[in-house]
Amino acid sequence: MRLASILILAAVPVSAAPVKPKPALPKAKAAALAEVDAMAPEIARMAAELWTHSETALKEGRSSALLAGILEKEGFTLERGVAGMPTAFVATFGTGRPVIGVLAEFDALPGIGNAAVPRLEPRQDGVKDGHGCGHNLFGAGSLGAGIALKRVLLSQGLRGTIKVFGTPAEETLVGKTYMARDGVFDGLDAALDWHPGTENKVSNDTGQANNNFTVEFFGKAAHGAFDPWNGRSALDAVEAMTHAVNMMREHVPPSARVHYVVSSGGDVPNVVPAYARAWFFVRDSDRASTEQHYEWLLQIAAAAAQATQTTHKVTLTTGVHEYQLNRPLQEAMKRNLDLVGAPAWGEEEQRFAREMQAFLKRPEKGISTVIEPLAAEPEPVEGGSTDAAEVSYLTPTACLNLATAGIGLPWHSWSAAASHGLPGASKASVVAAKVMAATGVDLLTDPALLSSAQAFLKKKTEGRPYRSPIPEGQKPPLP
Ligand SMILES: [Zn+2]
Repeated sequence: MRLASILILAAVPVSAAPVKPKPALPKAKAAALAEVDAMAPEIARMAAELWTHSETALKEGRSSALLAGILEKEGFTLERGVAGMPTAFVATFGTGRPVIGVLAEFDALPGIGNAAVPRLEPRQDGVKDGHGCGHNLFGAGSLGAGIALKRVLLSQGLRGTIKVFGTPAEETLVGKTYMARDGVFDGLDAALDWHPGTENKVSNDTGQANNNFTVEFFGKAAHGAFDPWNGRSALDAVEAMTHAVNMMREHVPPSARVHYVVSSGGDVPNVVPAYARAWFFVRDSDRASTEQHYEWLLQIAAAAAQATQTTHKVTLTTGVHEYQLNRPLQEAMKRNLDLVGAPAWGEEEQRFAREMQAFLKRPEKGISTVIEPLAAEPEPVEGGSTDAAEVSYLTPTACLNLATAGIGLPWHSWSAAASHGLPGASKASVVAAKVMAATGVDLLTDPALLSSAQAFLKKKTEGRPYRSPIPEGQKPPLP
């Protein structure tokens, strides 16, 4: 039968072949895109409600309940409170492999809340925190993708499992790190992720590995003038440490970053501080270098304690790897981004962006509608880290970036929080849901793509099995 049809094809003269039509969209992919379109009003509602809540790391009770509740109503099986975090959840639908994960973030940033207007103005409801990283759009878009994939599994009779991960506390790099350590992402065949920003592209930057830790020093209190010789200053220890850290900077590669705040330095000048605490981030372009700098910082902390006759305690709150870019998956996602197109910002969103840019005295360029190319090589590392890196180490993962705020507007700021509260902003969530759902369909229906993505990750991490940066048994830093 097969041979016969080949013979018939071979018999058709080349010159008579019709002009090759544009390949029709595979049925399952067309169905996924239609499902997202049908869900657009609900995606907009989710984005708006998450923005209204604007809850910060590990305090995302209402945000997490909203998303988990919607998934449960859709027929997903919910596990809430995973990895010791009440706001972390896993929603599962389907059976067997492939198992495709979708990551959903929803935490806000403290102190940058703003009304959804193109100028500095407090919110009328008094909420002080804000979605300056756009995780309200993020959570809504990821749910759109997860639900569309679930519906397509059913309508197209596909085989596989969809897992939507509610990952809290991204801003503190806690959520996915603790979930990864506790095996929550084990068994995934691939994962899809996206993130709001100021450009439309497939992420092609590894970010930085990071350790986030505090050093506490314990001295002895005494009167600052009457008998300071009876005291030992914990603040002196912090000062000795930060001085040595600033000297260390010259002797680490330029890719390294160390930054700190003194979060407790005594109460009044006439008491020798018996307690002081400093909070550090150390970063570099990979985990191994970050760990080297961290070892040096631990030696500095011990030396500062010794020099000041105090004692000290170090707590590594969290740490992440650099992101493991996965080329086959990036390319698949880019094809789907080109297919779906960048968010079609209308005059209202463009005007908002330009007014915000004018308010901040930036070039009035509006909001990007251009899709950036996927460069052959990873882009130079921008400052910053993400806990999605932990997932990318465990399973092939790709991340989409979409413009959700005006070009050149400061990120993690009140202006980004305001931009993400604009009703039209959820257009980006809809596009993200479509691109992720389309890529999910590719993974469900194209075993060659899945196996090449898995082989790519395996080769990349060969000889470096995943090792959680945080100690076994350590509890997440719940508020
Ligand atoms: Zn973010």
